Amino acid sequence: MQLLLDKLQIISSWQVGYLIGVILLTGLLLHLFLHLYGYARRLGFEKQQQDLAKQEMQISIKAAMLRCQEAEAARQVWNGFRKFRVAKKVLECQDVYSYYLAPHDGKPIQGFKPGQYLTFQIYVPHQPKPVIRCYSISDAPRSDNHFRVTIKKALAPKGASVPHGIASTYFSDYLKEGDILDVKAPGGAFFLDLARATPVVLISGGVGITPMLSMMNAILNMGSKRQIWFFHGARNSKEHIQKDYLEQVVKEHENVHLFVSYSNPLPTDVMDKDYNHKGYVTVSLLKDVLPSNNFEFFICGPPSMMDNCAVRLAEWGVPKNRINFEAFGPPPKKKSEPTAAVKSGGPEIKINFSRSGKTLVWDTGCETILDFAEQKGIEISSGCRSGSCGTCLVAVKSGKVSTGGAHDAPGEEGSCLTCICKPETDLVLDI
Ligand SMILES: Cc1cc2nc3c(=O)[nH]c(=O)nc-3n(C[C@H](O)[C@H](O)[C@H](O)COP(=O)(O)OP(=O)(O)OC[C@H]3O[C@@H](n4cnc5c(N)ncnc54)[C@H](O)[C@@H]3O)c2cc1C
Repeated sequence: MQLLLDKLQIISSWQVGYLIGVILLTGLLLHLFLHLYGYARRLGFEKQQQDLAKQEMQISIKAAMLRCQEAEAARQVWNGFRKFRVAKKVLECQDVYSYYLAPHDGKPIQGFKPGQYLTFQIYVPHQPKPVIRCYSISDAPRSDNHFRVTIKKALAPKGASVPHGIASTYFSDYLKEGDILDVKAPGGAFFLDLARATPVVLISGGVGITPMLSMMNAILNMGSKRQIWFFHGARNSKEHIQKDYLEQVVKEHENVHLFVSYSNPLPTDVMDKDYNHKGYVTVSLLKDVLPSNNFEFFICGPPSMMDNCAVRLAEWGVPKNRINFEAFGPPPKKKSEPTAAVKSGGPEIKINFSRSGKTLVWDTGCETILDFAEQKGIEISSGCRSGSCGTCLVAVKSGKVSTGGAHDAPGEEGSCLTCICKPETDLVLDI
């Protein structure tokens, strides 16, 4: 018995020693593994940092190159209208075509800032004078020397016995490949600054998608990982411009987040495949989807959407300088600030149209000087009627004008954009 106990003691002390050895070795191996793992992670992290720094460096080089191109472009900018040939006309979706425009003289076209538009002078048959219209460039600056615009035919309101839109109908129903158009150099203050890295939220409704496509494509072309949250509203898949292209972009770029709202989906439209939300794009939708409000916002769409989004974004605490918007038509009628004379119930304001030799009493019911002049039979050339194209710019010989709080861009010093301005005092206009 004693012999058995002695044997057991020998075995167990040998086993304990063995166990301790195993534990120590495991600990050592674990330590070694953790050390190696940490090293590998550090290496991975450092590589990631290096890649990021490399990418940032590439982007800032590209941004610097872009700035040089822009400066060069500004030097080369063409004055007045230049001839462009319709190189390609492509049906995008119901009543919407894209037009690829190549310079007729074959010389290089200038760069532009994504979001800017072209101004067209269109000779529509049976119109008494050329029609001026603006169309946003719907693609990023490209190396193949053409611009792309995407135009929706403006149909007459249902039930109204008025004609369809003059220019857009001409583009859609009459303009063909090979035709020549008169185009002014790109312009406009609604654009994305490519030298910045701030994540962006693009909000568009209907054909308001055009400047957003330009902005998104410009970011992607730079190889930038800048975050893009793209909210687009359409009636349904039949009116969803560049649907397939956008879906492809989302598959290929993890920095692009697309959110589509259909206000009137077709029975065949599938939720979470064709669209993500039924209804309109609103700021409460944005709040549900976005991680924060710390973005730069770009909005273009129907007046009601723009008005609503701009107001609600400001209420959400987004600084004014981070909310950018472009109207495709006359700006939504805001409760404009009454002019000084109206505020004080003061004297009537007189406008002297010097070249026409007429002095008329301002009608406070008019929204703009352009409306007033047209009412009184004084002709002022006009285009966009939203303060964008500059066609209605008139020199102010004396007096003061204001935009009545409805627009931020009063035009050049000593002149006024009559489509957005009202008189503040008596005026003498050079028209
Ligand atoms: C900066 C900017 C960028 C733009 N970018 C684009 C773009 O990328 N794509 C795009 O498609 N558009 C764009 N637009 C809008 C474009 O410039 C035109 O306003 C649009 O094509 C309509 O012009 P139109 O000549 O066809 O219609 P208009 O002849 O100006 O008519 C407009 C509407 O009024 C209706 N109408 C006609 N007569 C009457 C009447 N008596 N009473 C009531 N209604 C009437 C017409 O049926 C039509 O629906 C942009 C506008 C701006 C300012």
